Amino acid sequence: MASSMAMTRSVRGLLGSMDTVCRMELDSLTEGQGPAPLHGGNSVELRRPIEGLGHAELSAWLDARGLPAYRGDQIRRWLFQKHATAFESMTDVPRELRQALARSFVIGSLAVQQRSRSDDGTVKYLLRLRDGNVVETVYIPEADRVTLCVSTQAGCGLGCAFCATARMGLKRNLTRAEIVDQVLEVQRQCPEERRISNLVLMGMGEPLANYDATRGALETITDAASGMAISPRKITVSTVGLLPQMRRLMEETRVNLAISLHSVRDDVRSELMPVNRKYPVAQLLECCRSLPVPRRKRITFEYLLLRGVNDLAADAAELAKRLRGIRCKVNLIPFNPHEGSGFDRPPEDVIERFGETLRARGIQTHVRRPRGEDIQAACGQLYHAAASEDGAGRARVEAAIEQRGVADSQATQ
Ligand code: SAH
Repeated sequence: MASSMAMTRSVRGLLGSMDTVCRMELDSLTEGQGPAPLHGGNSVELRRPIEGLGHAELSAWLDARGLPAYRGDQIRRWLFQKHATAFESMTDVPRELRQALARSFVIGSLAVQQRSRSDDGTVKYLLRLRDGNVVETVYIPEADRVTLCVSTQAGCGLGCAFCATARMGLKRNLTRAEIVDQVLEVQRQCPEERRISNLVLMGMGEPLANYDATRGALETITDAASGMAISPRKITVSTVGLLPQMRRLMEETRVNLAISLHSVRDDVRSELMPVNRKYPVAQLLECCRSLPVPRRKRITFEYLLLRGVNDLAADAAELAKRLRGIRCKVNLIPFNPHEGSGFDRPPEDVIERFGETLRARGIQTHVRRPRGEDIQAACGQLYHAAASEDGAGRARVEAAIEQRGVADSQATQ
């Protein structure tokens, strides 16, 4: 058992990059109560999920213990390529190192609370985080690909008028580990031949309002050597258009960018998306013209079609006009209904005509057909009522997360 001073120091050292949940616990721990033992009791909460560490961070952790960097690659391959759930199973890692890892880290930051399968094969996962928040991840199999729609925040604070998630408000940002774990956990659940090939960051939340965690998670997900090796060409980040972060993302990564536009009229867009008051349409489009988008790539503009709001032929013509000169394509998304929204989907012929007007003006246009509507898994339908969070399910899921920590704790004794 370490001395009380050394323990306090090591606890403080952890604070810099600790997950929010754990930081709250550590704050109370460092305030007057004195250090708690790292084994037993609430030890699981004191250890960070190792998937949240970047390559450099894990190397530094090893280096501080006089261990070579290649051990980091071994550990990462176990985590991200072989989907290990316990340090004990990392058989080519020396025993003492496995034990040291298990004393400092856990594997996993969330657990599946519920799975719903749609008639079209789409699967919606309700994933419970360690603090009781719940996020949703949607698995979408298609003939030539399997796409996972990932969340970046619990709830969302942007208040878009048509979106179910907005009704939750922002609970909190997800950590890097929690974003990575959505992919890992779902991958563990699906048969090998249906490996996740594509990612869209279009679940709950605004990825660019949680930039660092999103960027970090993408680093792990795209790392071909020891990460999940999903090509950045197969990843799309969707944003309401937070301009500074959009530019950073384009400079720092090679993922695809999708922007939720929904109207090129400031009066309409500001009503639909309050963020438009901060970054109005002209400023957003000007930024798009100057973004460092690779030559062969296009920006995607998502355009939600709302009956009687933004679906007139004149809207389509104006949209085409304003997009002129931007290398882009348009994804038309017919509104997916949810209770009490007050919006409707336009009739099929209106959707078709809107698309035709854009195409006739030289804009590459695709109408996105909803997937998983029957299980409320389609775009903008993700919502989790706080009231239904408690109960037996919670205890079950927490037990699932704890179990891994316990297996490793036992292994270190
Ligand atoms: N915050 C990001 C990503 C999450 S939303 C963004 O806004 O882009 C992903 C997409 O679903 C966005 O284009 C959003 O406008 C759209 N969407 C939201 N509610 C919808 C609904 N009810 N029907 C169809 N699309 C919706």
